[in-house]
Amino acid sequence: MKCRKCGEKASIHMRQHKLALCKDHFLEWIPEQTERFIKKYRMFTRGEKILVAVSGGKDSLSLWDILVRLGYQADGLYLGLGIDGGIEYSHESQRLTEKFARENNFKLHVVDIEREYGHSIPMLAEISHRGYGKPCAVCGLAKRHEMNRIARDLGYDVLATGHNLDDEAAVLFGNALHWSSEYLLRQGPVLPESDGLARKVKPLCRFYEREMTAYALARGIEYIYDECPFAEGSQQIYYKEALNQLETARPGTKLTFYIKFLEAKQSGELFVEKETDRKNLHTCPGCGQATSAPGLCSFCRMLEKAKAEAK
Ligand code: SF4
Ligand code: ZN
Repeated sequence: MKCRKCGEKASIHMRQHKLALCKDHFLEWIPEQTERFIKKYRMFTRGEKILVAVSGGKDSLSLWDILVRLGYQADGLYLGLGIDGGIEYSHESQRLTEKFARENNFKLHVVDIEREYGHSIPMLAEISHRGYGKPCAVCGLAKRHEMNRIARDLGYDVLATGHNLDDEAAVLFGNALHWSSEYLLRQGPVLPESDGLARKVKPLCRFYEREMTAYALARGIEYIYDECPFAEGSQQIYYKEALNQLETARPGTKLTFYIKFLEAKQSGELFVEKETDRKNLHTCPGCGQATSAPGLCSFCRMLEKAKAEAK
């Protein structure tokens, strides 16, 4: 197989795009496509400040690399979750993130949940009895809360995450299986800002996971191979496997599934946009962030509970 651009030996063949490229042209193609998606979905401009949520994994580190290469003002945010799981997950992911930032001279903010709030994510999960032994519900809540707080405190316009097509297709699959209309309405490459909540964007949402792995490897980015130990056996992984089977039988299935969804949503054929919860937000008396919960936001309520139990 030969590279479509130069005729040299191809190093990646993307069946769903009927496109084979050599390493150098692949390294050009990914940022070019990213730029296309940023424009197409009107994610942000070069005048805006972007905060990239980095986990030490291939997607978020590659995203950061790509945005800076494209000339965007992108800084990183690493959240220390305090997850060990026998593989020192948090420790190792933080080490690799800091190394990446240092070597590239990128600006990185590190926030440690335990230092900030007195409890790590697994501790908070245990205290609050959410999630049936898995800390993911608490972790998701804390990550959303902290990313938003830090973006606001430090004056960033946009929060960017490294979700790829496999992630988005799996979420879509789950939401569609349950016809979770509220989640379906909110799913997309851009979640606009609203009072107190930063705009959220996913510039890699149209790249396959294997394309992002190939990018990180070709670029020589050192990332954490292990997934968070709590990801094992999750619903999300199960949906990913199901979609991979469909993809093997018919290359392009995942991409079509996701893009057709976005098109249908945009055309207004699928859903009628209602006045959503975002309209009924008020300010949490604990942290000052926007929330739809009455009184304290769910993150502050969880902390209150943790404090009470620690006494
Ligand atoms: Fe948090 Fe790990 Fe669960 Fe992901 S898998 S939400 S990082 S605890
Ligand atoms: Zn709050």
